[in-house]
Amino acid sequence: MSGSVRCLIAGNWKMNGVLQEAIDFVGGLQENASPEHVEVALMPPFTLLHTLNARLAEKGVVMGAQNVYYEPKGAFTGSISPMMLRDCGCHYVILGHSERRDVIGENNEQLRKKLDAAWAAGLEPILCIGEHLSERESGATNAVLKSQLAILDSVPGNALLTVAYEPVWAIGTGKTASPEQVTETHAFIHDELKRLGCDCRVLYGGSVNPSNAAELMGCVGVEGALVGGASLKAVSFMAIVNAAAHEFG
Ligand code: PEP
Repeated sequence: MSGSVRCLIAGNWKMNGVLQEAIDFVGGLQENASPEHVEVALMPPFTLLHTLNARLAEKGVVMGAQNVYYEPKGAFTGSISPMMLRDCGCHYVILGHSERRDVIGENNEQLRKKLDAAWAAGLEPILCIGEHLSERESGATNAVLKSQLAILDSVPGNALLTVAYEPVWAIGTGKTASPEQVTETHAFIHDELKRLGCDCRVLYGGSVNPSNAAELMGCVGVEGALVGGASLKAVSFMAIVNAAAHEFG
C-alpha cells in the first residue's frame, strides 16, 4: 500500500520557513538527495509548495503537505483541497498529526473523511498516531493506537498509505522512545494494520536527529522517519537520510 521504496524519510516543517530559507535549504541538499532504497520527502507549509515543487524534484525529493480539507471545492474559506495539493505537485499529505489532534481538535470522523478525499485525489496520506505520556504510563498505549487505527476499517485495497508512529511525549521534546519501546510498539501496529487489511509502511517520529537516527532506523518494524525540528536544516536532514541509507542499503 506504500510506495515502491520501503524506507521513507519525511521532513515536516510545521509552521516554519519563508521563501529565502526554503531556497537556501534546497541549495544545501546533496545532488541526489534520495539514495538507493530510501525515498526522501519534504512537507513545507502551503505557501512554499508551488515554489519548491520543481526545485525539490531536481534533487530527487518528493513533496507533501501538512494537512488537507476533505471537500473538493467551494465556500470553505481558508481551506485547501486535495486536488489543489496535487496541482502544486504533492504526492504525500500528513494527516492526524498530534498537533492538529490536540491543538486544533481534529477527530477520527474528520480524519476518515480526509483520508477518503486524499485517496480520491491520488494523494498518499501519512497517518500519524501516538499516545500521550499519561497513556503510556498507565499501560494504555496499545488501546490508544488501536482506536486511532480503527479509522482504517474498509480501506480500498489499492489505497496508498503510510502510517507514522509518533509518541506525543517524544515530539519536539528531545526525548525518544527506547529501541525496545519502538520495536514492541511497531510490532503491535504492524499486527493491527494486517488485521485491518492495510499492510503498509510504518515510520517512527519523535525527536529523530542525526545522533539517534541509525539506532531508531535499525529497530525491527521501522521503515523510515517523520522528522520535525531536524528537517529544518539541510545538513541535519541529510545526515538522517544517510543514516537510513546505511541501515536500508
Ligand atoms: C513531527 O513534527 O512530527 C516531529 C516528530 O517533530 P520532532 O522531530 O521535532 O520531534
